[in-house]
Amino acid sequence: MISLSGVSKRYGDQVALETTDINFETGITSALIGPSGCGKSTILRLTMGLIPPTTGSIKIADELMTPTTAIKLRQKIGYVNQDGGLFPHLTAERNATLMARYLGQTETSFRLRLVELAQLVRFPVDLLARYPLELSGGQRQRVGIMRALMLDPELLLLDEPMGALDPLVRAGLQDDLKSICAKLGKTVILVTHDMAEAAYLAQTIVILNQGAVVQNGTLEDLKSMPASTFVTEFLHSQRGLDLL
Ligand code: ADP
Ligand code: MG
Repeated sequence: MISLSGVSKRYGDQVALETTDINFETGITSALIGPSGCGKSTILRLTMGLIPPTTGSIKIADELMTPTTAIKLRQKIGYVNQDGGLFPHLTAERNATLMARYLGQTETSFRLRLVELAQLVRFPVDLLARYPLELSGGQRQRVGIMRALMLDPELLLLDEPMGALDPLVRAGLQDDLKSICAKLGKTVILVTHDMAEAAYLAQTIVILNQGAVVQNGTLEDLKSMPASTFVTEFLHSQRGLDLL
């Protein structure tokens, strides 16, 4: 579904992503995990076509991402960025339906979709008239996910969607996200820095360090056949993982 071939990203002297080859399979949830600054968000931004790669090429469902195709390809992708990215001056409803309105969909068609999505992400419909500041962190994330799913994209890119939530809210949203992913059967890339979360939600885990993929596999693979001492150390640094 998504393939990055020889993709790298530099900002001047700064390497955000070393030359990378990676595929994300259709219908599967993959987690990108690694320390802060290792290039996780860069991979999502490249996949979204928000930034151009320095080298290499990106294909979404066999279509090459170029400045010309990016706008159309982006409509196949739902994206929740690291800070939720809701517009503060728009209500939850307006945020969620922004693209649908922009694309000229009728109020009747996206209204139905909105209610369906509110049920799916368990967001109370009577809160749709609220502004982001009048919602809790967990509710805001749910609106972000509704917005990402509004156009029924084939791909869902989630950049630390649970990063800023307290443990209880986080666990609730993790459960809901798991059932959403199972129900919808979409191709999902989830960025997280929490290995337990990655193992709970994803079928495959990609560990990154300093702009490079260190290992790609299941939690079992990472535990039993760590590709480097970094993988072992990273696993050890994750408290509570022994319980999994
Ligand atoms: P993370 O894994 O925390 O999501 P990012 O992908 O956001 O990391 O960033 C990877 C590296 O690239 C970091 O060192 C970051 O500082 C650098 N970087 C990201 N965006 C820019 C930018 N616009 N200009 C310069 N450096 C950047
Ligand atoms: Mg990031």
